[in-house]
Amino acid sequence: MDSQESHVIVLAYPAQGHINPLLQFAKRLASKGLKATLATTYYTVNSIDAPTVGVEPISDGFDEGGFKQASSLDVYLESFKTVGSRTLTELVFKFKASGSPVKCIVYDSLLPWALDVARNLGIYAAVFMTTSASICSMFWQIDLGLLSLPLKPQTATVSLPGLPPLGRCDLPSPMSEPTSQTAYLEAIMEKFHSLNEDDWVFCNSFEDLETVKKLVKAMRGKWPLVMVGPMVPSAYLDQQIDGDRAYGASLWKPTSSQCLTWLATKPPRSVIYGSFGSMENISAEQVEEIAWGLKASNRPFLWVLKESEKKLPTGFLNSVGETGMVVSWCNQLEELAHQAIGCFVTHCGWNSTLEGLGLGVPMVCVTERTDQPMNAKFVEDVWKVGVRTKKDEVGIVTREELEKCIRGAMDGESGEEIKRNANKWRELARSAVSVGGTSDMNINEFVVKLLEGKK
Ligand code: UDP
Repeated sequence: MDSQESHVIVLAYPAQGHINPLLQFAKRLASKGLKATLATTYYTVNSIDAPTVGVEPISDGFDEGGFKQASSLDVYLESFKTVGSRTLTELVFKFKASGSPVKCIVYDSLLPWALDVARNLGIYAAVFMTTSASICSMFWQIDLGLLSLPLKPQTATVSLPGLPPLGRCDLPSPMSEPTSQTAYLEAIMEKFHSLNEDDWVFCNSFEDLETVKKLVKAMRGKWPLVMVGPMVPSAYLDQQIDGDRAYGASLWKPTSSQCLTWLATKPPRSVIYGSFGSMENISAEQVEEIAWGLKASNRPFLWVLKESEKKLPTGFLNSVGETGMVVSWCNQLEELAHQAIGCFVTHCGWNSTLEGLGLGVPMVCVTERTDQPMNAKFVEDVWKVGVRTKKDEVGIVTREELEKCIRGAMDGESGEEIKRNANKWRELARSAVSVGGTSDMNINEFVVKLLEGKK
């Protein structure tokens, strides 16, 4: 069969942390001979530049401004479900009419309605999980009724098979404070309820990383769970000189060339790179503590902070001079991969965590919400590649705490041990995606099954 006949639509939720891994997956499929088209909203589609895959818009009902136009997350998700189902169906018909029929829809787990679209059209459906398998296992336990929500007020620790004991504040935030994020939790739970209906359940992780082996095995008994990650452009992982050097999607304009010029003036492994993700919403108080904590660490730092002119303490930039650089957005991977970087102060979004891990950069975790606290727990206690900051009684990471954790991640015996572990995990991540590695083979198997037309 002509590989061009094996066409996959990869549907991404329109946020940076979702488009990146899904676009990367589409590129991997294209590199293995499938025709891959990334579908995302009108509002984000022009931010994508990935020559090996097709890019097509569908509608979420808010074509001018996306999510920000909606009055709430519930309203947005409901609109996306209705209008998205219709426009995704139209897209599949359009491809059929043009002689490039779609065989499978790989869809973001935040868009569970795409399963019905695929089923109605009689094509394969595969969900793509943008979190770790450990996080998946938690939601699975909720779906099975093994963990009931909301947690009782007196519950301080949750003990679940295969997972380290989790303090209340380690849990994904829809679980630790379910009432505040009902729409988000409902969207996730809807997906977990129907996972057995998918033809494949892809997870942006790799076998060695998921130490919850028993749970992974149990989940596999229920759904076709397949690890395909880390979804990081290949040049950074399997070291192909001509490999892919960027995700190919940026919802903001990066100031990367200035950053690289600045980094080139700094000694190897001396610089702290700080970023709190694409949806960062840090309070003024917290920004102030981070700023003075970075300064107190006495190291050069590169910090990504949107609207820094409004948020930074007065006189801060003057006081740090050439030692610090603050930008509103950059090509994170390019900076993290630079030899001058010695530490990553991160919110522990799953992509950032995989990037830090895959590039072997020691991490200091300053988390906010969703899966970030649990990812940070694994960074410190399971993979031992970083240090978690603790919040004070009003929920702030103080400058002293940040400085202490940076020193713990970079200096002395603890810093050495973290560096050794970071190197180990970098190698394991690389081998998973390199030719013949576990994730690479898993993707090959999917491609072969699709080319053969059977599952
Ligand atoms: N990112 C980037 N430039 C920046 C900050 C972040 O390219 O200045 C990318 C980063 O590499 C990652 C994504 O944005 O792939 C953020 O995803 P993550 O899951 O870490 O966090 P989220 O934004 O979803 O909270």
